[in-house]
Amino acid sequence: MRLIDAHCHLDLYPDPAAVLATIEQRGIYTIAVTNAPVVFPACQALVSTSRFVRPALGLHPELAHERERELPRLLALLSQTRYVGEVGLDYVTTEGADRAAQRRVFAAIVQGCALAGGKILTVHSRRAVPDVLAALGDRFPGQVILHWFTGSARQAERAAAQGCYFSVNPAMMTSPNWDRLIATVSRERILTETDGPFVHTHGHPAQPADVVSVTVALAKQWGCSEAEASEQVFISFRRLLGAP
Ligand code: MN
Repeated sequence: MRLIDAHCHLDLYPDPAAVLATIEQRGIYTIAVTNAPVVFPACQALVSTSRFVRPALGLHPELAHERERELPRLLALLSQTRYVGEVGLDYVTTEGADRAAQRRVFAAIVQGCALAGGKILTVHSRRAVPDVLAALGDRFPGQVILHWFTGSARQAERAAAQGCYFSVNPAMMTSPNWDRLIATVSRERILTETDGPFVHTHGHPAQPADVVSVTVALAKQWGCSEAEASEQVFISFRRLLGAP
């Protein structure tokens, strides 16, 4: 099986080098997201010789209000990578000023990516799907992966119509929304992720190889074999990357 982990915080494991070694050994295509521009160079260095991992430049929405001053640094680093994340909006906070800071940061990042073109974004949208989709607009010149999507079926349909992909993880499989999301979104739009080490599976922080459990769940939902499900996700990932 060819495995894809479209959203993993490789730099936040206690031993990133060990996780990276497993990724290389198993050939798991991984987008290594980061939460702040200040840690991007270290992540970039960590994966510089990797065949399978691509470093993503991010500014997590939950950090946006305290790290907005790092925004110029992020925009300056944009030319160094095709991958951007973790970025987005998180409206768990009810603090108006924090939400406003998130919107300023995300809008600036989207604008920077739109100017550059061809970027691949992994986007957080908890309780903020309408504003995330509005910020991206209908003609964003790049690719968007909505990571750990928890919006409604209608919001999922709208996001898919805007061209978004959805990366799904082991924690989502136990939620009542899982069946609905997978039933709503066409399988060509689904990718796998772990969001490790934040997501736990079987009592331990999820590692990229744990996307196997997601592939198994997708196969069940799609009514196909696990090999077919993993091939489907691989094809979608290649299409996202613009591979011929
Ligand atoms: Mn994450």
